[in-house]
Amino acid sequence: MMHYDRDIIAKDQESYLPVFTRYPIVLDHGEGVYVWDVNGRKYLDALGGIAVNVLGHHYTPLVDAIAAQAARLIHVSNLYYTAPQARAAAKLSELTAGGKVFFANSGAEANEGAIKAVRKYAHQIHSEKSQIITAQGSFHGRTLATLTATGQEKFHKGFAPLPKGFDYVPFNDITALEQMMSKNTAAVMLEPIQGEGGVRMPSDDYLHQVRALCDQYDALLVFDEIQTGMGRTGAFYAYEQYGVMPDIVTLAKGLAGGVPIGAFIAAEKVAAVFHAGDHGSTFGGNPLACAAANVVLDTIVNDDFLASVVSVGAQFKQELCRLQEKYPEHIAEVRGMGLILGMEIRSHDDAAAIAHLALTRGVIINCTAGNVLRFIPPLIFTKNEVDELIRVLDCCILDIYDRGGL
Ligand code: PLP
Repeated sequence: MMHYDRDIIAKDQESYLPVFTRYPIVLDHGEGVYVWDVNGRKYLDALGGIAVNVLGHHYTPLVDAIAAQAARLIHVSNLYYTAPQARAAAKLSELTAGGKVFFANSGAEANEGAIKAVRKYAHQIHSEKSQIITAQGSFHGRTLATLTATGQEKFHKGFAPLPKGFDYVPFNDITALEQMMSKNTAAVMLEPIQGEGGVRMPSDDYLHQVRALCDQYDALLVFDEIQTGMGRTGAFYAYEQYGVMPDIVTLAKGLAGGVPIGAFIAAEKVAAVFHAGDHGSTFGGNPLACAAANVVLDTIVNDDFLASVVSVGAQFKQELCRLQEKYPEHIAEVRGMGLILGMEIRSHDDAAAIAHLALTRGVIINCTAGNVLRFIPPLIFTKNEVDELIRVLDCCILDIYDRGGL
């Protein structure tokens, strides 16, 4: 029997815009990779706030830094310099080949900034150069420009007229991209690994070929690393593992370990088109968010930390593959690298049912793209926690298929 607080849920449902399909639990506090609901029930968190809580919950250095910064200054506006912002920008710049950093408050805003940078840069080349090509199945955010960049019609429905200048090609299809490009292409914008779209991996040479086409057409390459960045794949950026450098990269989610933040980092030649007044944000990069980001960056950019993501991720994937071998009639594929992993269930209904059942057994996982179980836990996940999750997942699959359903 599921425990939850009906009063809180009823109050929320009465007053909150009904845009989220929420699970019927009310979360209260967390520690490491576990969270507890208001009834004291414990859950293993393999979703990590959708790839946000990279250092887990209640990570003491992060909590202390936030508390200390809150006591000094929470916010001052971007009309002044602050030490936490300067430090976070310097660190990110260093991690991104010396690019220039802009801080926003979310992934969508980071991508909005990247889109503005693309347009401003390209218009300097010629006035018709404005086309931005993105991939089908991509996800780039919910603002008007970023939902238009998102190559999934379901996110566009009802919001016309959409901003102009976006075209879509199948992910991983270099011929389709080549046919779509011209001298009017301003940028190609991609997630190196599609997250929300179902943990879809690029083929080995795809991103290299995209880079070459961008160079050929004098178009910018934008990588949205909002989900794949911050150590998720076992390197700070996924692009490092593919050996392909973008002109602009965007980050958000895990960057401040749960405090809202986003960032785009642009190569010098792109950054040079921005002047005072061209872009801005009231909250973006405020001292509180940047103090948190500094702790996260200091912790993640460490060989041992990233090596653990690689080895725990490899063991996790191997265990998921074992489940696939055990249930080949129900599990179509296992994909991903590091701690962004997906397990494609053949039946859409069953994927959602497995995620629900896992919750009743104290494990938080998520189902994306209809039938893909997505695992994007805190990056501090250990092999023991993988074993715990796999045991529960195996039981859930067994319950649904071999014991006659829920
Ligand atoms: N880009 C990618 C790849 C994402 O996964 C997301 C969120 O899931 C976004 C952009 C949008 O980020 P936010 O929800 O912070 O606006």
